[in-house]
Amino acid sequence: MYDFGAVIGNKSIIKSLKQAVEHKRVNHAYIFDGLKGSGRKTLAYAFAKTLNCKAGTGSPCGSCISCKTFDSGNNPDVIFVKRSEGEREIKIDAVRNVINKNIAVKPYSNRYKVFIIEDADRMNTAAQNAFLKTLEEPPYFAVFLLITENCSKLLPTVLSRCQHFRTENLPAEEIKKYLVSRLSVSDAAAYTAAVYSGGSIGRAAELALSEEFGALCASVAENTIKLLETDLIGLYKLTAQMEQYKDNIESYLDIMYLLYRDCLVYMQTGSTAALVRQDITDIISRICTLTGTRRLIRGCSLIEDALENLRRYGDFQLVIENLFFKLKEK
Ligand SMILES: [Zn+2]
Repeated sequence: MYDFGAVIGNKSIIKSLKQAVEHKRVNHAYIFDGLKGSGRKTLAYAFAKTLNCKAGTGSPCGSCISCKTFDSGNNPDVIFVKRSEGEREIKIDAVRNVINKNIAVKPYSNRYKVFIIEDADRMNTAAQNAFLKTLEEPPYFAVFLLITENCSKLLPTVLSRCQHFRTENLPAEEIKKYLVSRLSVSDAAAYTAAVYSGGSIGRAAELALSEEFGALCASVAENTIKLLETDLIGLYKLTAQMEQYKDNIESYLDIMYLLYRDCLVYMQTGSTAALVRQDITDIISRICTLTGTRRLIRGCSLIEDALENLRRYGDFQLVIENLFFKLKEK
């Protein structure tokens, strides 16, 4: 179950957390900030478990009553604060009913009472202000672990009272190794997912195992060839068919961008060794023959512009039409 051994990378954070327990220098509040799937939750959970482990070392023993009840979700001295189902924010009621109510009572059978606040950056201002009051004068036994994706959304007064850890974005090669060895994913699929994940191992695992992602990658490659080979009527048809990707158009364009980038790498090196998409080298070489360096470079910036325009203006059909017609220009 939850243990520092389950965290990939993030060695310096693990070292600091272990030392805090070993040297009995535990702070009242910690922030675990980083991408989803980058190990924030595992780090926070392993630390929470270590804090109350009866063995009293820098790692959870896994077999004492405190570790066991943590793993089964029944440790009375670990309190979770979460968003309610369907809610976008953590509201003041959650802080009042869960934190403030529990903080008045000493731990039942442990050294610390640990509060784990998931999506802490989703606490609205009122909730943060209510939390701040507790954070300013916490009882000696309280430890708060805040898990965030963007800790700049926390009030400076909250931030300044927490020790801050930022989980690292792992190199694609390291993520690939993990996916191949633990999830039995093929080398090519693992590397593609690792690159698209932007350094988050959890996201990469999700992508590598997702049939939808595999299918989307295949469609992007197929449609890009079509786009370059077809005539004007075919291009209109293709643009109309893009409606089916409306819900995941950002992923579609991200994949397309990396495909163009792969083509550029292939044009410049003449080798497939550095390509992300090792599984479609024939398609990459075909796109290169149909375009050339200048059009590929222009293509990359057109795709980036399209992503930006979608975020800013959101007129899906117009942005896609504009992109496809410009990509077709010689
Ligand atoms: Zn233990």
